[in-house]
Amino acid sequence: MVEQDGGSADVQSADIDLSRPSIARVYDAVLGGKDNYEVDRVVADQVRLDMPHISDVGWFNRAVLGRGVRFLAEQAGIDQFIDLGAGLPTLENTHQVAQRYNPDARVVYVDIDPIVLAHGRALLEENENTAVVTADLREPEKVLAHPSVRRLIDFSRPVGVLLVGILHHLHDDEGPKAIVDAYMDAVPAGSHLMITAFCDTGPEARAVQETMLEFLGTGRFRTLEEITAYFDGYELLEPGVVALPMWRPDGPVGTPLSIAQRLMVGGVARKG
Ligand code: SAM
Repeated sequence: MVEQDGGSADVQSADIDLSRPSIARVYDAVLGGKDNYEVDRVVADQVRLDMPHISDVGWFNRAVLGRGVRFLAEQAGIDQFIDLGAGLPTLENTHQVAQRYNPDARVVYVDIDPIVLAHGRALLEENENTAVVTADLREPEKVLAHPSVRRLIDFSRPVGVLLVGILHHLHDDEGPKAIVDAYMDAVPAGSHLMITAFCDTGPEARAVQETMLEFLGTGRFRTLEEITAYFDGYELLEPGVVALPMWRPDGPVGTPLSIAQRLMVGGVARKG
């Protein structure tokens, strides 16, 4: 039997609010997925007016997630991951990448939106080494105490903490750096932290931010310096916090980068 979230019964479709757009479903729409509704597509279309190549931005993010997990699994020896703000299943989900390099790799997906569990269970929990947890990452203690997290993650060994495409959804007064540190405090030396986030790169970025704030209620595009500061206290690995296509690319990347290529930045650090 598939493990249930937090001991609750199966997530009912009634839990999925179709009267308002959700971040997970809007992102799915941006990526060209099918797990979204008209209310979400309206937002995706509005963002596309602000940033015509927004789908490319989403795929740059998915691609760097894949490269990051590959690096962690293949080169950093990480075989257990907590994927915070995991999103709906799409191509190359974290466990698919990690288990390609280590079939025993364990992945816990955490997302606040019950649709991720409802739609994601079949794919994201496709073997006993993966689980989906419906929880709010702003409550690290609860997330870290969750039975699925305790079952799959051995906190005496290095962990890959993934905060990919999510920290711009946290307001300043929610203390995103303290939340990052709460997860990193729970994992031992040798653990790694991967972050990607929207960056305040100029007027186009601010237009997307305004649309997100208006329709989704969240959206804080931080400066490169602010995003780099998330890694304070850890050893930031080469090439640092950079535009996503520049993070350990598989081939040459033409420059100058486009606005879409620069819209999100990311990096990986190691806890010493
Ligand atoms: N990490 C994936 C990626 O980068 O491709 C998905 C990113 S998607 C833009 C952000 C996800 O974070 C959504 O699925 C949303 O439901 C989830 N999310 C937003 N706020 C959250 C919170 N407080 N706790 C957990 N998940 C959250």
